Amino acid sequence: MGDSGCATVVPLCDRNEHTADALRIGGFVPLSSVDYPGMLAAVVFCQGCPWACRYCHNPHLIPAQGESALSFDELCEFLRRRQGLLDAVVFSGGEATFQKSLIPALKAVRALGFRTALHTGGAYPELLKQLLPLVDWVGFDVKALVADYPALTGVPRSGIRNWQSLMTLLASGLPFEARTSWHTELMSMAQLRVLATQLAVAGVKHYSVQVVRGGALKDETLGASPWSIDHREFVHREIAPLFQVFSLRED
Ligand code: SF4
Repeated sequence: MGDSGCATVVPLCDRNEHTADALRIGGFVPLSSVDYPGMLAAVVFCQGCPWACRYCHNPHLIPAQGESALSFDELCEFLRRRQGLLDAVVFSGGEATFQKSLIPALKAVRALGFRTALHTGGAYPELLKQLLPLVDWVGFDVKALVADYPALTGVPRSGIRNWQSLMTLLASGLPFEARTSWHTELMSMAQLRVLATQLAVAGVKHYSVQVVRGGALKDETLGASPWSIDHREFVHREIAPLFQVFSLRED
């Protein structure tokens, strides 16, 4: 069985990680104007993530298996009805690159005439390199300094993998935004300043800082990020000028 497209009917017994219809989808937003800049997009939340970030807002998407929001065939049916109305499909997570079936899924969505975007934390640099030619735009999470990753994700070498993926993305020339979710109890201003400087020196042009909100976080002992006028002024004074395009997302 090769790559399956939207129209392919695959017997259940033949389904495996390398077919589009094996893609496990844990969440779905039919219309978004904020997940792919300038595009009206549907957002597919892929099931599974190898990390366990303390501030994760979607802990139900971390296990490899979870409750299905819709099947890939149902996604394709939806997209056929939206041809000419929607611009793009964003594959988010979880960690979208956790599933190898993402590659045939990207091909199938493109074959239906949609642009594709990827939200990723760069956990799988090798797979990322393979799939970048199938993607038009990337939202790339940089969670912390390389050495500080394991304390946040619970996984050794996660920071090294993130940085390898960033290098791959930069070398590809693809348009992308690097973004950091900032919980001020987990990362100091000084650490954020060093991280942002490293990103700017590496060649990142578009960067955003997203303040971690409260709610159901993976680490239930962690509340919403403390946030003050000092934090906001620091970001605008010391982080924003490092980049061609910068945004601070406070809600
Ligand atoms: S926040 Fe961390 S644990 Fe949650 S989906 Fe993203 S990478 Fe995975």
